[in-house]
Amino acid sequence: MIGSVNLFVANWKMNKTRAEARAYARELGELIGDRDPGVELVIAPPFTSLEESKDSRGRWSLAAQDVASESEGAYTGEVSARMIADAGCRYVIVGHSERRRLFEETGPVLARKLERVREAGLTPIYCLGETEEEREEGLTAATLAAQVETLAENPPDAPLVVAYEPVWAIGTGRAATAEDAGSARLQLAELLSGRRDVRILYGGSVTSENARHLLEACHVDGFLIGGASLVASKFAQIAGLP
Ligand code: PEP
Repeated sequence: MIGSVNLFVANWKMNKTRAEARAYARELGELIGDRDPGVELVIAPPFTSLEESKDSRGRWSLAAQDVASESEGAYTGEVSARMIADAGCRYVIVGHSERRRLFEETGPVLARKLERVREAGLTPIYCLGETEEEREEGLTAATLAAQVETLAENPPDAPLVVAYEPVWAIGTGRAATAEDAGSARLQLAELLSGRRDVRILYGGSVTSENARHLLEACHVDGFLIGGASLVASKFAQIAGLP
């Protein structure tokens, strides 16, 4: 990327009550204190805890974990991009593999979600990555290329975050090797080379133990972190804040 600091996104998934979110935010705030973290931190809590996860001092920002593909109307249970922006988010995760796999979200729906995110002035964190089966069949590059196609209608000068998250590495304790993550990063950088403002993250079993090595060896612009981000001190450590 292009002149910006590394980005660390804590994806809490379906975890934490409002009280737990408040305690986490307090602890993270204490860990950062008055210093400039020198990196960009983002928390993606469940919708119900967005307010409690905020930092009044702006040391981190918020992401929603998902967004409706429609703008508004009779879509019970959905939350629109405009509502998400109004709730104080800067980012939205789109196309997480759990959404793709468990909720059968595919390219056309994700393209509509990306459009809603743009309309609301939010930045998408677009997740992609191959399954174990695709990897074994040698289809990693083809899968990534197909998933990048979903971004085709997105304006090339709008900020974009892409998270390479091999499905087999998510929540398994089996992070990608620096070689695998590095070669996916290179391919994505090439596929996205027409874009002006893009950061490429890695996600999948990142921990405070493997974070430094992965960051340095595969030259990504940061991480999307699930399990290890549920503990404020671990998230801070992964982001390089002792
Ligand atoms: C994720 O859910 O995006 C993720 C990377 O999870 P984990 O860090 O637990 O593998």
